[in-house]
Amino acid sequence: KKLGYALVGLGKLSQGQLVPGLKAARGAKLTALVSGDKAKATRIAEANGIAADAIYDYAGFDRIANDARIDIVYIVLPNSMHAEYTIRALKAGKHVLCEKPMATSAADCEAMIAAARNADRKLMIAYRCHYEPHNLEAMRRIRSGQYGKPKLVVTDMSRQSTLSDPSDAWRLDAKLSGGGALADMGVYGINGARYLLNEEPVEVRAWAQTDRSDPRFREVEDLIAWQFKFPSGAIANGSTSFGVVGAMRFDVYCERGRLRGDPGAYYGGNRLDVFGGPGQGPVELPDIDQFAREMDWMADVVRGTVPLVTPGEEGLQDVRLIEAILQSVAKGGATVKTDWGYKRAFDP
Ligand code: NAD
Repeated sequence: KKLGYALVGLGKLSQGQLVPGLKAARGAKLTALVSGDKAKATRIAEANGIAADAIYDYAGFDRIANDARIDIVYIVLPNSMHAEYTIRALKAGKHVLCEKPMATSAADCEAMIAAARNADRKLMIAYRCHYEPHNLEAMRRIRSGQYGKPKLVVTDMSRQSTLSDPSDAWRLDAKLSGGGALADMGVYGINGARYLLNEEPVEVRAWAQTDRSDPRFREVEDLIAWQFKFPSGAIANGSTSFGVVGAMRFDVYCERGRLRGDPGAYYGGNRLDVFGGPGQGPVELPDIDQFAREMDWMADVVRGTVPLVTPGEEGLQDVRLIEAILQSVAKGGATVKTDWGYKRAFDP
C-alpha cells in the first residue's frame, strides 16, 4: 500500500517539487494538505484528487491525529516554524519528514528529537542530496580509496535574493530563517563536506562580507566563508551568499584525483566529473526525481525496510555548526571548537 503524505506549507517547494514528486513516487502518495490559504489549498486539492475534508488549516492541524489517510507529515514551512509543527505532528501520532535546516536553534532540534522518541515515531530531515545519484556516487568513490586520501573539500552555495519575493523575504528575516543564506543554502555545503569526507569538523573559523546598506542584509549576513578542520587533517572551505550569481557546487581534492560536482546539488541536471585520476571524465548517471526518491525512502523507513540515513541528529549537527560559524563570524574569525563527539549513524 502507498503511504499517505500530508504537505504542511504550500509554497514554492511544495508546489514545484513535492506535489509532482509524490505523483512519481512508487510507495507514497499525496493524501492531505495543510495551509493557511483555503483558496490555494482547494485549488491544489482539486487538481490532485485530494478530498475536501483532507484540507487542514494551522489552527485545526492537530485533528490530523484522527485522519488515517495520513501516515507521514512533511513540514515545508519557513525554518522557524519547523519545530512547532514537527512536534505537533509527532504528538498526533504521525511520522515526520522535515525540511532543512531542521530548525533555527539547536535547542529546538533537541526538542524535536525528544518528541520523536517519546511518540515512538520516525523523524527524518529532508537532505535530498543523500538520495541523489551524483552525490551518492561521489561518496562511494571517495570511500573506495581509489583516489587516495581526500584532503580538501570546497563547497560554494549561492544565489541572488529578492526582498519583493515573499519566499525570499522570510529567508532574509533573521528570526524566520535562522541565518539568511547560511541557513538556507550554506547548509548544503556544511552537510556536504561532512558526508563527502565521512567525518565531523573539530574546529571552525568564519568571516562575513555584508553590506548593511543593502536592504536585504539589515538582519542577516550576506556572504560567509568558513573553514572546517577535520580529525584526519582534511580541510573544508565553504562559502554561501544571497548576493552573488547562483551556484551549488563541490570539489573534493584527493591524493590521486579530484571529484567535481558542478552543479552538484540542483534539483536536476547535476554532474559528477573526475580530473587527474582513475576514470577521468564525466561520470554518466541517471537524472532521477530526487524528491520522489527521498519521499519513497521515508516511506520505506516507516515500513522498516531501509535505515534512517538522515535522522534528526544529522539536522541537529548542521544547526550546531551553523551556530558555530555565526559565533566565529561575530568574533572576527576566531576559532570555535566543534569537537562535541557527534558521529553519523549510517553512511550509505
Ligand atoms: P515558500 O516561502 O515558497 O513557502 C513557505 C510556505 O509557508 C508559503 O506557502 C507560506 O504561505 C507559508 N507560511 C506559513 N506561515 C508563514 C509565515 N509566518 N511566514 C511566511 N510564510 C508562511 O518557501 P519554500 O521555498 O517552499 O521553503 C519552505 C521550506 O522548504 C524551507 O524550510 C526551506 O528551507 C525548504 N526548502 C528546501 C528545498 C530543498 O531542496 N530541500 C528547497 C526549497 C526550500
